[in-house]
Amino acid sequence: MSASPYIYLDHNATTPVDPRVLEAMLPYFTEIYGNAASIDHDAGHMAQQAVEVAREQCRRILNARESKEIIFTSGATESDNIALFGVAERYADKGDHIITCVTEHKAVLDCCHRLEQMGKRVTYLPVDQYGIVDLDELRKAITLRTILISIMFANNEIGTIAPVKEIGTIAREHDVLFHTDAAQALGHVPVDVEEMNINILSFSAHKVYGPKGVGGLYVRRRNPRVKLAPVIYGGGHEIGLRSGTLNVPGIVGMGKAYEIAAAQMKSDAARFEVWTRKMLTEITDQLGSVHMNGHPVKRLPHNLNISIEGVESKSLVVQLKNVAISTGSACTSASVEPSHVISALGFSPERAHSAIRISVGRSNSPEDIKFAVTSIIQSAKRIQSLVV
Ligand SMILES: *Cc1c(COP(=O)(O)O)cnc(C)c1O
Repeated sequence: MSASPYIYLDHNATTPVDPRVLEAMLPYFTEIYGNAASIDHDAGHMAQQAVEVAREQCRRILNARESKEIIFTSGATESDNIALFGVAERYADKGDHIITCVTEHKAVLDCCHRLEQMGKRVTYLPVDQYGIVDLDELRKAITLRTILISIMFANNEIGTIAPVKEIGTIAREHDVLFHTDAAQALGHVPVDVEEMNINILSFSAHKVYGPKGVGGLYVRRRNPRVKLAPVIYGGGHEIGLRSGTLNVPGIVGMGKAYEIAAAQMKSDAARFEVWTRKMLTEITDQLGSVHMNGHPVKRLPHNLNISIEGVESKSLVVQLKNVAISTGSACTSASVEPSHVISALGFSPERAHSAIRISVGRSNSPEDIKFAVTSIIQSAKRIQSLVV
């Protein structure tokens, strides 16, 4: 049974829920429906226990010291908001300067724009042709007023993985907090908040075969102890940092999703890397002028972003009737502006206008990949012949 009339190659936008995740969630809708904060009775206590199991599953995939360092939220957008506004407010007496980079997700960039309106200062570091910030420029940007460095772990459009450990070391040397948006990375590539000197980390369940509308924030409690001001006030849930009744089924599903990811990350990644490489080789062989966007090796194994010369991505995506790929990130594809990420890499506007993102996942088979490659090549050739 397939609900989708097409081959889904947009796993960077969102993933289907893994059937094992759904199975783990189901009892928490109609059977174990207590409020996890109502621990005076069994119904609430059972919900609370399930939440703590999930918190431990999240702790494990992050290699955090304590599960208390995990706060549950509605997703990575909210987590990014808590990280940025939370640090800006709480550390206002220490400084007012934040460093981020131009290729961040809008969830970080829009917070930074708002913080600037509120009188804070933000440095937007440029990136090189692969989408990586220059570590010397990062060092130079740090001042005595700098309170936060926020650099994403892996980019949602081009898949480039940042030198996170090096950034974490620089942040630590300068006594500046380091936040990373790991929505695309956690569950797909190894993440270790201890080894990488990460202080605050955002994640989201629906990028790793968990449900939509649930995510989390890692907040370091020791060495250093990070303190954040809340963004949402209320009942004091989640150590006062994120009030609101917990989404128990969602949280249970997210924990399960990370447990599964931890177990099969390596084998999934190996399979996906073979597919994305194969697609690049075959499309390049057939079409000639194809440019890969993002870093050739420091990248998410399931992401491929390419620009085919003479083929506008909007036209290609419309032509591809049975294959779902993306012209940019889901959040920006409503606009006609080319992606801010590809534009930041320093190439021609044509290259940005022809960028397509293909992201594979567990829902795909080798046959899907073969079919998609053939369709993309055919459609691209048709568009090229029309243009010429
Ligand atoms: C998907 C994504 C987000 C937003 O996550 P939600 O859980 O959908 O709010 C933020 N940052 C990155 C890098 C993403 O890929």
